Amino acid sequence: MLLTDEQIQKLKTAWVRYPDVNETCIGCSACVAISWDVFDLNDEWKSVVKSLDSYEDFWVDDSIMACPVNAITWKN
Ligand code: SF4
Repeated sequence: MLLTDEQIQKLKTAWVRYPDVNETCIGCSACVAISWDVFDLNDEWKSVVKSLDSYEDFWVDDSIMACPVNAITWKN
């Protein structure tokens, strides 16, 4: 039995992982410089994650490694 397009889309959505920035962010902007499609700084100079359908094709792992306070992690 084959999955319908709708079922495939639901499965894909269920397995999307996304980056999360915790409160230890010091606003250094390294993640934004590396992956500006994913991260931005808000008015309080804290990194925020932009809303995307998928984060797999961006440099999130490099941003995680560059963060000086380990504020970024993957979440499901
Ligand atoms: S690299 Fe880390 S500390 Fe710097 S802005 Fe991004 S989340 Fe904040």
